[in-house]
Amino acid sequence: MTRRMDGDGDGRGGAPSAGPGHDAVAVPASVTSLLPGLSEIEPGDLRAWMIEAGQPAYRAAQVADGLWGEKAASLADVRTLPATLGDRLEATFRFDTLLATDVRDADDGRTERALHLLGDGASIESVLMHYPARGERRERNTLCISSQAGCAVGCPFCATGELGFGRDLEVAEIVDQVRAATRRLAARGRRLTNVVFMGMGEPFLNIDRVLAAAAILTDPARIGLGARHLTLSTSGVVPGIRRLTRMAPQYTLAVSLHAARDPLRDVLVPLNRRWPVAQVVAAASEYQAATGRRVSYEYVMIEGVNDTPADLAALADLLRGRRAHVNLIPMNDVAHTPWRATPAERVEAFAVGLQSAGVGTTVRRNRGREVGAACGQLAAERAGEPPAGAVARRRALLVEESARALRGERSAAPRGIERP
Ligand code: SF4
Repeated sequence: MTRRMDGDGDGRGGAPSAGPGHDAVAVPASVTSLLPGLSEIEPGDLRAWMIEAGQPAYRAAQVADGLWGEKAASLADVRTLPATLGDRLEATFRFDTLLATDVRDADDGRTERALHLLGDGASIESVLMHYPARGERRERNTLCISSQAGCAVGCPFCATGELGFGRDLEVAEIVDQVRAATRRLAARGRRLTNVVFMGMGEPFLNIDRVLAAAAILTDPARIGLGARHLTLSTSGVVPGIRRLTRMAPQYTLAVSLHAARDPLRDVLVPLNRRWPVAQVVAAASEYQAATGRRVSYEYVMIEGVNDTPADLAALADLLRGRRAHVNLIPMNDVAHTPWRATPAERVEAFAVGLQSAGVGTTVRRNRGREVGAACGQLAAERAGEPPAGAVARRRALLVEESARALRGERSAAPRGIERP
């Protein structure tokens, strides 16, 4: 594993420094940079700003070349701009809303996990995965991005859920994760091919900004990804799925399912108490019908909890006959749970069971395990280890709740982890 710092974003706020007990991205004392990010300013608005500032409109195109050109890391790198205009832009906008990025490599350089520091000191993560060309298949470079700092959903197997909710990301903070990755890729002669909203946060609880960011990512004049190369994921926010259905884009919809039975899903994905699993799958099927796009269902496999024959039967019954595909993902042991990942041979057997029931299924490998493949792990490291007593109480509660769920009883207790 190797790690490196990718500069200090817009050049303001000072260099990151080591914090107590942690040497990754630390918050500089002067972090308060909350000017609007240039990447979320619509081209017409930037042209209007230039004209109001007494500049020719073509200056907006020069800024856009720098923003989307995969080379410039700061306004100072946009050499076509006069210095005085650069200063005015700096005083009004941020060229990059990521103040600093700590990049860690894993999987022999095929996975890069990035911890980004934002202007108010919040930190978020993105993961860049490289898939070399194989046979007929072209090389892919997929970036997994965050939509919120922290997450309110509180899935107990997830390090982000354990951190709790911080705030929604701004459009520019979402887009700038992608710009940062395209610059790193361009330096190696590679191009970004796919973006998935599966990092920190529940995208559909920040849906206005997520959809605005998706529009920028798929705009040919900006990032220019094909809509089919963009995946929006949700843990089951039904109104968000319905809104997407009304728009009927060609984005891939991924539903984080993790359990097919309500009592167990109440425990693993607490949002299930609000939108039960049947409603979620019905809404996702409407999206499939409106767009013709196959829906993906993500299923983290936890030994003895959601990998039993009863779970297999419930999942097969739920998805049989629908245009759906299941991705089985062994649980990553990062959150403070009492559980372990399902062993590989049982994951395979579960996959075979689903396939025999007519449900397309793939077993996914967890990329970047040694650098904290589950979203939120690096941010959790930065937050520090929670008190041992709080961890023990949480584990006991999860044992109790999952045992109740396996008996088919629904629980009402929400859970989180207490941090001082
Ligand atoms: S798995 Fe996703 S929805 Fe659940 S807590 Fe983690 S980030 Fe939030």
